[in-house]
Amino acid sequence: MLDDGRLDRAAGVLLGTAAGDALGAGYEFTRPGPEQEIDMIGGGAFDWAPGEWTDDTAMALAIAQAAADGPGLEIDAVAAGFVRWYDSDPKDIGVQTNRVLAARPASARAMHQQAMSLDGLTGGNGSLMRTAPIALCYLDDAAECVRMAGAVGLLTHHDQQAVEACKIWTYAVRHAVLTATFDGVREYVAATDSADYWNRLLDQAENGAPAHFPNNGWVVHALQTAWWAITTADASGPEHLPLALELCVRAGGDTDTTAAIAGGLLGARWGASAVPAHWRTMLHGYPGLTGEDLVALATRIVKANSAA
Ligand SMILES: [Mg+2]
Repeated sequence: MLDDGRLDRAAGVLLGTAAGDALGAGYEFTRPGPEQEIDMIGGGAFDWAPGEWTDDTAMALAIAQAAADGPGLEIDAVAAGFVRWYDSDPKDIGVQTNRVLAARPASARAMHQQAMSLDGLTGGNGSLMRTAPIALCYLDDAAECVRMAGAVGLLTHHDQQAVEACKIWTYAVRHAVLTATFDGVREYVAATDSADYWNRLLDQAENGAPAHFPNNGWVVHALQTAWWAITTADASGPEHLPLALELCVRAGGDTDTTAAIAGGLLGARWGASAVPAHWRTMLHGYPGLTGEDLVALATRIVKANSAA
């Protein structure tokens, strides 16, 4: 189970998420033109340092840190990790997540109830952006992986499409770590009751353009943007990872989040070794970790949760 290729791809889940996030952070809510070079420049609406990841990775790492205490993921530990991050006074926090965490719920159950009590739009991309590390906890158990992806998503986003998106993506991340392919997305969707709905959206992403899914603060358009970038980036080797992340940024909108979502799956497919070295050395962020720390953390999660 723990061969070097799989360990590299497991580390890629965290490193790819962080790289996409930190790449997109400087371009959030903009749409860079074709003449503009894309690099890990920092800045943006919240004046990020170059290489600094944002709330997307910070929340993913709250999950990852709970996962490192495995076997299994304690959902109360995830909820506590979210509150701990909230208490660190983060620069950026999603609207929906803020409305849930402001109550500082003391358990997963209380957090989910708070999420259920929200009215208005509930399908933001904030649960999908952080879901990838759950896959590392359940490399031995696909069904439990999917179940937990839904449960962690529901902590803040009580929304059917958001839950389904988290399940699809987490399954695909797990599948990519195990098989080094992107086949998990379609494979999972094909086996669900909503196969027609998601296959149509995936077809649109593969054949369309960002103008067809422009509202990528919404979980559905965020997933489509990530899938568009992954299936459109024209490379068949590890250089596919940075190319696809750049496409997420060029699609505009919530660039750090679409690139973080894509980055989790790209890293699972191509491994930490596919993240360009100059990005890897720049990466840092909450809770005081670096890119190399993420590689070590991913290894700890896999070992803590592996039967082998
Ligand atoms: Mg962000």
